[in-house]
Amino acid sequence: MIVVMKPDSTPGELEAVMQRAQQMGAKTHPIYGESRTVVALVGDLTGVSREVFDEMNGVAHSMRIQEQHKLTGRTIRPDNTIINVGGVRIGGKEVIVMAGPCSVESREQIIETAIAIKAAGGKILRGGAFKPRTSPYDFQGLGEEGLKYMAEAREITGLPIITEVMTVEAVPMVSEYADILQIGARNMQNYGLLNAVGKVKNPVMLKRGMSGLLKELLLCAEYIASNGNYNIMLCERGIRTYETATRNTFDLNAVPVLKQSSHLPVVADPSHGTGFREYVPAMAKASIAAGADALILEVHADPDKALSDGRQTISIEDFGKLMIDLRRIAEAVDRTIEEPELEDMSAFAELEALA
Ligand code: PEP
Ligand code: MN
Repeated sequence: MIVVMKPDSTPGELEAVMQRAQQMGAKTHPIYGESRTVVALVGDLTGVSREVFDEMNGVAHSMRIQEQHKLTGRTIRPDNTIINVGGVRIGGKEVIVMAGPCSVESREQIIETAIAIKAAGGKILRGGAFKPRTSPYDFQGLGEEGLKYMAEAREITGLPIITEVMTVEAVPMVSEYADILQIGARNMQNYGLLNAVGKVKNPVMLKRGMSGLLKELLLCAEYIASNGNYNIMLCERGIRTYETATRNTFDLNAVPVLKQSSHLPVVADPSHGTGFREYVPAMAKASIAAGADALILEVHADPDKALSDGRQTISIEDFGKLMIDLRRIAEAVDRTIEEPELEDMSAFAELEALA
């Protein structure tokens, strides 16, 4: 159920509605939209009657929410959620490009890549320090050391960082370093982990499980939101099908479906979606055309030598070229991708110092 407040309602009236709902056994989530403030009532609503609210001061009306994904659905918030990460706005008119290596491999590697990504117009740096690898004998990531290098790359470039957190125990530590927490495909339905990231302040990017239905993805996002963290991005990264020509089947249907059913920003990952670097540009462009709010791309100075996912990783040079094409696609669909700030050369001085 939602209780829609009048535009001129006072904070005290909002508080009174929430208290009343809590007395009746509901959990309350105030949602401050651009056009209206609403209170979502979730949990056991058997003792809750709508009429009580309709008579309270400051209330415009109340209504039942039909969707199962109550907090992440459009009924509660018709406007798009815009997530502000260190001044980078995800979910607005600008399409945000997140890029970086699959794994952080060394200090030099992540700093060099971060500088190149910024120079090409990338807005957020990706890099895995805790890697969910299929084989226990493959490179598992640098752990906390990798997070320190990521933080240093952020210091130098100003790019916010996104990195995966794989376990509940690691949430406090990874949250200290990361601007955005990534929940990987293999953990989409790890409900303990979803509850844990729902209790921290960092925005979360939730990746679709390889056999996850979109309605399941939305309900997993709902776990995070129901714990009080509403800054969630939904990421399509390909699903497993009978097709073997690509690593995964990149389900671009997900973009318009998720945009219709949720107010949350939608991210597309054509690197994992295709598994081959030669297909990444086409699917990155298609993602923007389909309405994605952000892309996440794997980029490496020498992709064939990458310690993970090299085959699907594009070079720094190809990333630069792709950004130019992406900008044109964005404009064609009434979005933007900002030109890189060329006047800021301080990052390049750092690069020279490293060399
Ligand atoms: C990754 O982003 O490197 C990753 C492991 O992705 P996914 O969870 O989608 O496989
Ligand atoms: Mn990867």
